[in-house]
This record gives sequence, structure tokens and C-alpha cells, in this order.
Amino acid sequence: MEVLVIGGGASGMMAAISAASMGAYVTVYEKEEVPGRKLLRTGNGRCNLGNKELRTDYYHSYDNELIDNFFAKFDEDDTIRTFRSLGLIIKDIGGYFYPFCEQAAVVRDVLKDNMLSYDIKLHTDTVVTKIEKIRADKFLVTTKDNSKEFDRVILACGSYAGLDKKDRISGEYDGYSLAYSLGHTIIPVKPALTGLKTSDDIVKIASGVRCEALITLTKDGSYVGSEYGELQIADYGLSGIPVLQLSHYVGVDPEGNYELKIDFMPGMNEDDYISLMQGRMLQYQGMSVSQFLLGTINMKLIELLLKYAELDPEDKICDETEDKVITLVGLIRCFTVKIKGTRDYTHAQVCSGGVPLREIDDNCASVKTPGLYICGEMLDVDGACGGYNLQWAWTSGYIAGRAAASR
Ligand SMILES: Cc1cc2nc3c(=O)[nH]c(=O)nc-3n(C[C@H](O)[C@H](O)[C@H](O)COP(=O)(O)OP(=O)(O)OC[C@H]3O[C@@H](n4cnc5c(N)ncnc54)[C@H](O)[C@@H]3O)c2cc1C
Repeated sequence: MEVLVIGGGASGMMAAISAASMGAYVTVYEKEEVPGRKLLRTGNGRCNLGNKELRTDYYHSYDNELIDNFFAKFDEDDTIRTFRSLGLIIKDIGGYFYPFCEQAAVVRDVLKDNMLSYDIKLHTDTVVTKIEKIRADKFLVTTKDNSKEFDRVILACGSYAGLDKKDRISGEYDGYSLAYSLGHTIIPVKPALTGLKTSDDIVKIASGVRCEALITLTKDGSYVGSEYGELQIADYGLSGIPVLQLSHYVGVDPEGNYELKIDFMPGMNEDDYISLMQGRMLQYQGMSVSQFLLGTINMKLIELLLKYAELDPEDKICDETEDKVITLVGLIRCFTVKIKGTRDYTHAQVCSGGVPLREIDDNCASVKTPGLYICGEMLDVDGACGGYNLQWAWTSGYIAGRAAASR
């Protein structure tokens, strides 16, 4: 059985090894000079490659109910077992899986080494430009240099996320276009796990601030989701894990009227907060509002919130300012920022959308073109931060490889 894997990224390398371990002759075509380039950047170079708490609700897909079928075949324990058999020891840091050495490059090299051991032919600098189904069990695959026949083809071309414009294959050669040419539909592809843009004063005044926050995303005033963690205020808008986790919703509906409500003192219950602030209002009577807030939240945030409460830093805590001070106290727990959209693909960790899950079976086999398999981020599955996207790459790659190698 001659199997071609198109794309030597996370899912493609896993698919290639899985197919070769079943006895198939495997070739990988990779457009870059080296395989697994994106993998090198994962987890800030440490590669968060899975998570102990694997649940469907950590994933987004139009066909969410189908995701479990894949994890039933290859889950987080299989990730640990499979990598161990390939030579990589994994450790669990608070539920997040990392290679023991905490080096993404080692994950890539272990996969690459295993491809060599299995005699997998890796062709780098090789862009697939066309795939044709020429007979019942034969594909003709064309690259910039030649055309060759294969029995089975696995598409593992990934998404646009994290790629500079110059590195993105435009139009007809990207994985989505190749899948489309073989009868698949494509759910619109959007950046996910990325920062959110805003032009509100928060970026002018508080850029550079990193603070603990509870953030709540609303659309047209209705609740969409909440996340807690480190909020990062940047010159373009907001970032940090809680923002990334919510960015999916904004990405899929960029025209939506989104707002983020930020609680800068999360974890404190409302009664404790009110009595704390009432106590401080008494304690700081006759002193300035900036003294009143000094020692609570970040100084740049104080400057921001004073502006929104229409208070001058030197205004005194007194009867005349009481209403504005109450507004100020409220803003600390609920500061609203208007969202203009997500950052672009280059700054995203994954993309939402892609080939619908209902267009493959639970072996990752195309229901449109027999003999074709699809895995990884090309499929309409995007996970939360925390190793969920690589878990999807290993799961779908492993399943696609095994199935493609079977008669
Ligand atoms: C900065 C960053 C950090 C991340 N950190 C994490 C993390 O810590 N944990 C986690 O779970 N996920 C993380 N991710 C997401 C994760 O890297 C991806 O979900 C995963 O790599 C997807 O695997 P894939 O095989 O589908 O695609 P990729 O790994 O992108 O591989 C696709 C490959 O196909 C090749 N290709 C494309 N088109 C063609 C063609 N026509 N011909 C030949 N080759 C082609 C590409 O060059 C590429 O090498 C991160 C992403 C980024 C950008």
C-alpha cells in the first residue's frame, strides 16, 4: 500500500508513523525546508502536547457531538503511551502534558527520527499543487516538480494560524483548496486563540499591564462566556489566556457587537468587596481618590478607571464626589471594553472552521472521495489553550494513518 501524507506537521508526522507501523510504504510531502516548523513554536518552545482533562467541551466544532468518536479511539493516555513507545517521555505539570525535557524541538526530532526508522520518505520543499482521483484506488498527486501515483492520500496541511503572509500558501494549493477540489465543503476559516482588538482608552493608558482578571464576553448584551486568568493589555487590545480562550466566538462572527466585561478584583465576593470599599471610603475621607485606590489594583488601571469615572486624581473623597467614587468602585468589578475583532491569522494559534467532521467517518476517511483521509487542524475542530490542539493532531493523525494503511 503506497500512502502519501501531505504536510509534515504534528498530525502528518503522527499519521505517517502510524501508517508505516501498519506496514504501508509511506511518503511525506512537506512544503517547508524542515518538518514540524509550527511544532517548534508550541507552548513557547516547550510544547504543551496534551492535557489530563480531555473533554469535548474544550473543543469547538459545528459537529461537536462527533468529536468523542475520535477520542474513544485515541485519547490522552494513548498520547503518553504512543510517545513513550516512540522514545519521548512525557511529564504532567498540573494536568498539562509536556515533554520531560520541555523542548518542542525534541518532540519534532523524535517524530522525525521515527519517520527515518520506519523508512518513510520525507520530501521537504515540496508543495502539492493538485490531487486527482484517476482510478478506483489511485490518486495522481502533482507537486511543482513532478506527478506520482499513490493508493491512499492523507491531507494534513494544517491551517493558516501562526503563519506570516509570505508563508501562507494562497488560494489553490492550501489544504482547504485541495480538499475542496476533491468534493469537500469548507466551513469559513477564522483566527482563534488570538488577541482581541479594541481602540478604547484601555490600550492608550494601560498598555503593558498584566493582571489577574475574570473576563466575560457578551454579544448584543447577552452572555457568551467567562474566563479567569492573566489578562494582558497590549497596544492593539487585549491578550492573555482568558482572552485567547474567548476569541473563537469573535472570530466566527466578526460583525457581532461584542463587549468584554473585566473584573479586576476577581475572587473577592461582593459583600467582602463592598465592606472593604466602604471601610476605605471612611479611612480616606478628605484624601485624594488616587490615595484611596493606591494599594489596590495596578497604578495604570487606577489612571484608566479614574478617567472613566470622570474623576481627577487629586479630587477628594467627600460628599460632592461620592456618586463618582461609587461609580469608580463599580468599574473595578465591571469595566466594559468594546471589541473590534480578533487579531489576524499570523497572531493566532489555531483556526476555527475547515472541513466539516460530518464529511469524514470515524476513521478520518473522506465520505466524498474514497481513499482520501483528512486529519489535524484542517478539520473543523479547534481546541482551548492547554494542549488540546496538539491532542487533536495526535488523535486524528494516528487514526488516519492506521486506517489509510489498512486494506
Ligand atoms: C505560536 C503557536 C503556539 C502553539 N502552541 C500550542 C501548544 O502549546 N499546545 C497545543 O496543543 N497547540 C498549540 N498550537 C497549535 C498547534 O501547533 C496546531 O494545532 C498543530 O500544529 C496542528 O497540526 P497540523 O498537523 O494540523 O498542522 P501543522 O502542524 O501546521 O502542519 C501542517 C503542515 O502542512 C504543510 N503543508 C501545508 N500545505 C501543504 C501543501 N500544499 N503541500 C505540502 N505541505 C503542505 C505545512 O507546511 C505544515 O508543515 C500552537 C500554535 C501556534 C501557532
